[in-house]
Amino acid sequence: MGVIIVTQERGVVPEQITNSFGFFFKMITSKTSFIALIGNPVSHSLSPIIQNAAFRYLGLDLIYIAIPCKNKDLELVINSLRKINCKGLNITIPHKQKIFDLCHEVSPIANKLKAINTLKLNSYGEWSGTNTDVEGFIYPLKSLNLNNKKAIVVGSGGAARSVIQGLLNLNFSKITVIARNANSLNELMKNFGEENQIHGLLSSDEKNFNLIEEADLIVNTTPVGMIRDSNQDNLFPYGKTFWEPLNSKTIIYDLIYNPTPTALLKFSSKKGCITIDGTQMLIAQGLKSLSFWTDGLEVPFEIMHDALKKYL
Ligand code: NAP
Repeated sequence: MGVIIVTQERGVVPEQITNSFGFFFKMITSKTSFIALIGNPVSHSLSPIIQNAAFRYLGLDLIYIAIPCKNKDLELVINSLRKINCKGLNITIPHKQKIFDLCHEVSPIANKLKAINTLKLNSYGEWSGTNTDVEGFIYPLKSLNLNNKKAIVVGSGGAARSVIQGLLNLNFSKITVIARNANSLNELMKNFGEENQIHGLLSSDEKNFNLIEEADLIVNTTPVGMIRDSNQDNLFPYGKTFWEPLNSKTIIYDLIYNPTPTALLKFSSKKGCITIDGTQMLIAQGLKSLSFWTDGLEVPFEIMHDALKKYL
């Protein structure tokens, strides 16, 4: 990977301009390089806010931007970014799985999950991929005792794989994945073939009712709730009726962080459930990605958290 230049002492950013809202803008010069988020959509993303705050804190001559990219353009975009002054990437919806085949090197965790959210260039100028979502997902659950508990994972895409790995790391005794799509569910189940505490069900299956009622933790890994919709039913994965059996002992974790709280979290909170949104995961995975790009640099959690609070 190309060297990231530390331009000044940590926390001191001399070349900065403050606008009327109190935000700092770093001076961009011909030496400034960049890291990008690739996905579709990306306009909801708060990664530019937290990463640019971290770059400023570390005094890196680096900016973070979000680039929308359609499925059909992914290979061209990724190969082109390799040739210009790009020092790393984050990958988001819907490319976390497809990007796997475009990496020349992957970490053991990315290889197991076949899902990648962070890339950097190796010494040959080729993309090397890893997954920081697993550690990000676990972050808000670490302080809870979830040994031998039952979880439901809603959705079977890229983030679902990281969530399942996180739940295995936390010693959940039963993990049920509920998906709308038999093909992606089967693919995901193959990834975890040796883990017999994982089960897959389609969203139309009647068994879901009892499972929802009995779950200790339910995690929404679908993007449903991200886009505002006047039809309430469209704001809930598999429709609002699906969630009726929910009871107050269940923790509801929605990976979505914008908007927050989602309709699902508001509904669950009214039922008396503990709710967790995607903000802490966003920051925790972002800290790990930053460390991957910079070969180990660290930033306090509060730097990213404060930047988010100020922005929102
Ligand atoms: P993805 O790979 O595209 O997977 C999305 C999954 O949701 C797929 O299983 C998809 O089903 C399903 N889905 C999509 N629309 C649906 C609908 N209308 N009804 C039911 N299921 C639907 O996306 P991802 O990368 O896993 O991301 C998913 C969400 O997690 C996004 O909102 C993303 O922002 C969020 N996320 C947050 C964080 C964080 O740090 N907080 C980290 C990672 C992801 P099909 O298989 O049929 O397409």
